This record gives sequence, C-alpha cells and structure tokens, in this order.
Amino acid sequence: MRVLIISDIHANLAALEAVLAAAGPAEAVWCLGDLVGYGPDPNECVERVRDLPNLKCVMGNHDKAVLAEIDIKAFNGDARTAIEWTQSVATPETLAYLRALPEGDEFEEFSLFHGSPRQPVWEYILDRWTAQQNFPCFKTRYCLVGHTHTPVIFRELTGDSVCREERPDYVRARQLNSDRLILNPGSVGQPRDNNPAAAYAFLDTVTRQWKHRRVSYDVAKTQARMRAAHLPDRLAARLALGW
Ligand code: ZN
Repeated sequence: MRVLIISDIHANLAALEAVLAAAGPAEAVWCLGDLVGYGPDPNECVERVRDLPNLKCVMGNHDKAVLAEIDIKAFNGDARTAIEWTQSVATPETLAYLRALPEGDEFEEFSLFHGSPRQPVWEYILDRWTAQQNFPCFKTRYCLVGHTHTPVIFRELTGDSVCREERPDYVRARQLNSDRLILNPGSVGQPRDNNPAAAYAFLDTVTRQWKHRRVSYDVAKTQARMRAAHLPDRLAARLALGW
C-alpha cells in the first residue's frame, strides 16, 4: 500500500494543495496532527484532510488548544493569537472533527503520534537522546511523529549505543529493514529547517520503502491571506524563510 504521510499542515491550504498535487494518488493518507493553528485556512484544511482516502489522523497540540483542551498560556504570544483567531473562525464541523481525533494510533507495525509516544501531544523529539528515551515507549517496529517541523529519522541501535540520527534523503528511497525507527516527515504548512518548501513523505508498506519529499508552493498567497486575517506578521514572514 502506498501511503502519503503528512503532518503539521497548520491551516496552510496552498501548501497542502501543492503536496497533494505533487504526491499524486495515494491509497492511504496518515496525518500526524496540527491541522490548524498559525495559518489562514483552518476550515478548508480540515475539509480537505477529512476526505482523503483511508485516512488515519491523530491530534496535535494546536488542534487541542483550539478545542480549549489545553491552556493557551502554554503557547508563545504569536501562536496564542493565532489559536484565538482560529477559535473565532472555526466552524462547528471543524471543531467536531478535531475533537474526535485520537491522541495516538497503533496498528500492524506502525505507531502514529503528533509529538512522541511518551507524551503524544507535547513532547518534541528534536535530538537522539530524546529519541532514545522514546524507543521503549512504543511497541511497534516503526513510530511516525511530527511536531518539530523538521524531517528526520532516528534509528535504534543494539547494545548500549545511543540511537542514530539520519538526515532526510530527498533523492533516493530508503529501504526500511528490521531496525526500529522513529520517522518524521517534516511539516506541510510551516517548515522549520531553513527550507520553505512543504515537506511530506511516502511509505510503501509492501516494499517498505520510505521517501522524504519537498515541494515548493505559493508562499506569497498564504502570506497575503494571513495578513488579510490580521494574523501576526512574524508568522507570515517566517514561511518565506522556512523556520
Ligand atoms: Zn506543529
């Protein structure tokens, strides 16, 4: 089965549409949370994701905050402003969809979480030491996470070695073997690895090939919609820089 992996769309419809167009038909889509927050199109993004084929989707911290299930004081000022704006425009259908999302999903060889298996909504796996502590926290061979907005793979090593961090390869497919891995596709709607192009990944569950991918999108279109909505300018500016 050819699975499209997306995460951290953050209400950026132009980026989401670019990813879906570049990805072509997928038999299934797995989405790792944060459909909303930061960006100008929360309802449109939820509608688009909801209708994707064989979708599995988990809840992110921004999704949870828009539902008022997290104290928004936990967020920085710009993020908080964007969450309050999202609350003001979210339709009942959007809120109902977000409320129904699980905080994690585990099936066959795969676990899906937004942040980490240890703290599904909040923890950032930004380095191999944090990844190391999370390997015992999921039972499956592979764990897919988002939240950091940075594509990466962490590979568990045998013995006392700390796990290995592997940078994304956008040219070749990576053959997954029997090693246990934590895989992050990066962010569709707000990349933070100094590359403004939308990030996503493919997984073929039969051949076990994983591909990190990037596609540029119309950043100016999203920025214009953010400014029209009076979202914080810093949030619009950062999209062009990819941080
Ligand atoms: Zn996010």
